[in-house]
Amino acid sequence: MALNLIVLGPPGAGKGTQAQRFARERGIPQISTGDMLREAVKAGTPVGLRAKAIMESGALVSDEVIVEIVRERLDQKDAAGGFILDGFPRTVAQAQALDGLMLGRDPLVVVDIAVPETELIRRLTSRLVCEDCGTNAEPGTSPEAPCARCGGRLKQRADDNEGVVRERLKVYRQNTQPLVDYYRTRPTFRAVDGAQAPDRVAADLAAAIAAAANGAGR
Ligand code: AMP
Repeated sequence: MALNLIVLGPPGAGKGTQAQRFARERGIPQISTGDMLREAVKAGTPVGLRAKAIMESGALVSDEVIVEIVRERLDQKDAAGGFILDGFPRTVAQAQALDGLMLGRDPLVVVDIAVPETELIRRLTSRLVCEDCGTNAEPGTSPEAPCARCGGRLKQRADDNEGVVRERLKVYRQNTQPLVDYYRTRPTFRAVDGAQAPDRVAADLAAAIAAAANGAGR
């Protein structure tokens, strides 16, 4: 059976880091809608041109645009054997659309990474990402250091300043938190404590995914 995984959690919970790590270990694609949008902005595509100002304000890109991007991505061959969605769905409407896209596929496994808000603000406002490959630097890395993955330059994300971070967390509480209730009653839902060291979170995540996959009858 294919492992069709969603990683939920607020901005700064470590979704991207954990999803990337898990995807690499399992050999399935990590599908980050934030990364796809940032690439579209960089490339200046029509979607990117429309998304840029929305992303910089901390608001959400429209459900229609995002669902279309995800639909096309899930249709690609490499997603047939499983995938990890990171940053999608972010609204109940997106979750309902995703359930539609999943008809005829193996059930979704959903893991929520929970982290208190004060910790999220601290993490996000000090986060550095690589200008070239988009990888997050280890917390505490100097802004002068090169990217550990590709040697590129580190910088702060355009939407990681405190004002926009507070807006993104508000948008999360209003639009994305209700998703936890949308999925909570499924036998394939699990939550993990994201306020731990990354290795502990990774171990808990792997255990939660295994347990949730069992919930799907595997
Ligand atoms: P992220 O890298 O996941 O934090 O996403 C960065 C920004 O991209 C968000 O603040 C939104 O503006 C936009 N975005 C990413 N994923 C979605 C989504 N599923 N729905 C709407 N907007 C999104």
